[in-house]
Amino acid sequence: MAHSKYEYVKAFEREDKLLPNTWIVVRVDGKGFHKFTKEHQFTKPNDITALQLMNHAAAAVMKEIDDLTLAYGQSDEYSFLFKRNTDYYSRREVKLASVIGSLFTAHYVLAWSRFFPDKPLTKPPAFDARAVPYPSIENVRDYFAWRQADCHINNLYNTSFWALVLKGGLTENVAMKRLSKTVAKDKNELLFSEFGINYNDEPEMFKKGSTLVKELVRRVPENRSPRRAACRSSMPTPSTPSCATTARTMSSKKSRGRKRS
Ligand code: ATP
Ligand code: ATP
Ligand code: MG
Ligand code: MG
Ligand code: MG
Ligand code: MG
Ligand code: MG
Repeated sequence: MAHSKYEYVKAFEREDKLLPNTWIVVRVDGKGFHKFTKEHQFTKPNDITALQLMNHAAAAVMKEIDDLTLAYGQSDEYSFLFKRNTDYYSRREVKLASVIGSLFTAHYVLAWSRFFPDKPLTKPPAFDARAVPYPSIENVRDYFAWRQADCHINNLYNTSFWALVLKGGLTENVAMKRLSKTVAKDKNELLFSEFGINYNDEPEMFKKGSTLVKELVRRVPENRSPRRAACRSSMPTPSTPSCATTARTMSSKKSRGRKRS
C-alpha cells in the first residue's frame, strides 16, 4: 500500500548504510555449535566433513554474490570480504548481514545430506552474522590475521583437550583443569610427550583454516580480438569449492589477478 496513511511507520527505520570506500567484512558464526556438534556427533576436535560442508556453503555464497572477493573460514565461522566499491544492497548493514547469514545457512542445510548421508539433521542449524566496514587495507589484513590467530589458539587448545579426554581417559572437567594456565609451549610439549603428537604435523586446514579467493579470469569472446577481452569473476561449482587451506599467514598473501577495488 504505497502512500497510505500508514506509511509514516517507515520513518522508524534506522539509516544503516556503511561508509563508502571501506572494505566490508561479513562474518557468520554458528549459533550454539558447541551443542550442535555434540548432538550431531562431530568427530572431535575436528570433523573434516563438517569443515568441508562449511567450505562448500561459503563457496556457494561467493558464487552467488559477485562483489565478494575473498572468504576465510575456521571452526563454525566464515568471513566474507566485499570489494571496496560494492553497492550491494546499497551497502545497508542489516541487509548485507542478513542476506549472507541466511544464504549461508540455506546452503549448509541444502548440502547437509550430501556431506553426511548417514547422519540426519535433527536440529536446525543457525548462523548469526555481522557486517563491519574497515577503512584501510592494513585493517583488512589484520582482521584476517586476527581470525587466523584465533583458529590457531583454539585448535591447539582443542587438540590438547580432546587428546586428554579421548586418548588419556580424563573427564572433560579434569582435562579443562589440566590445561588451565598452560601456554602454547606447554600444550605442544604435553601433546608430544604424552600422546606422541607433533602439533606441527596436524593438517593445515585444522591449524590455519581455509581461504577462498575469487580470481578474475580473462574470457576471450570468439568473435572479438583478445585485446578487447572482458574480465569476469569466477568460482568453481559448489561441489568442488576452490578451497585453499591457508599454508601461509594472511600477511604474506598476494592478491593475484583480483580486481583492485
Ligand atoms: P555461539 O552461539 O556463541 O557462537 P558456540 O557454541 O557456537 O556459541 P563457538 O565459540 O562459536 O561457540 O564455538 C564453536 C564450537 O563448535 C566449538 O566448540 C568448536 O569446537 C565446535 N566445532 C565447530 N566446527 C567443528 C568441527 N568441524 N568439528 C568439531 N567441532 C567443531
Ligand atoms: P528484493 O530482493 O528486493 O526483496 P523481490 O523480488 O523479493 O526483491 P519483493 O518486493 O520482496 O521483491 O517481492 C516479492 C515477490 O515475490 C513478488 O513478485 C511477489 O509477487 C512474489 N511472491 C511472494 N510470495 C509469493 C507467493 N506466495 N506466491 C506467488 N508469488 C509470491
Ligand atoms: Mg517483499
Ligand atoms: Mg557467536
Ligand atoms: Mg558459534
Ligand atoms: Mg565460532
Ligand atoms: Mg523480497
